[in-house]
Amino acid sequence: MEIINIAIDGPAGAGKSTIAKTIAKKLNIIYIDTGAMYRAFGLYCIRNNISSDSNEINNILDDIDISIYHVNGEQQVILNNENVNEFIRDEEVGKMASEISVNKNVRLKLVELQRKLATKESIVMDGRDIGTYVLPNATIKIYLNANVETRAIRRHKELQDKGIIKQLELVKEEIKQRDYRDMNRDFAPLTKAENAIEIDTSNLTINQVVDKIINYIQEFTEI
Ligand code: C5P
Repeated sequence: MEIINIAIDGPAGAGKSTIAKTIAKKLNIIYIDTGAMYRAFGLYCIRNNISSDSNEINNILDDIDISIYHVNGEQQVILNNENVNEFIRDEEVGKMASEISVNKNVRLKLVELQRKLATKESIVMDGRDIGTYVLPNATIKIYLNANVETRAIRRHKELQDKGIIKQLELVKEEIKQRDYRDMNRDFAPLTKAENAIEIDTSNLTINQVVDKIINYIQEFTEI
């Protein structure tokens, strides 16, 4: 059977991971969360007191081995032989991931793994540069967007659900900073691929977005 690569990009809080996961489940294919790989890299830096300064990062590239596998459809991230899934969702790790992901050498290392995974089987992969850089020949490219207020409210609720109380304005400011870093880095910045379909999720439910994407996939592929 033909291998299908579905690339989903967009800024933080646009709904990428929930939507990508649901689509993968519906199509019975693998979901690859590339943000989790940057987070694992960030976790290594935090644990080893490495700053996001490029000289420090470039010195430790060879000390880091990141791989993934799936258990019942759930991606497991392995950092130097340790499953780090339960440690990579902290705010602090997300911030570090955002900082180290501007480094070209970090990106090249993780992109190599991402491209390898996409050749093995049909996948839905989400991130910031999947349609533009990692998989330029992806079968389907989707760019999910939403206004910054909506994204901040979603993130704020996610934090509340985890018992973390933070002012909405602060969450919004952090999202803006993350957008800026993602969109303005020199190498593989976040931008919509020319041939990507853009969906504004601000006023749509998850199911509405999923249905739109599934219809689109079925229109253009045999899956
Ligand atoms: O998507 P998530 O928030 O888990 O990603 C963590 C950080 O990793 C993002 O803020 C982004 O800066 C970076 N990232 C990236 N390229 C990707 C995926 C994530 O630069 N393909």
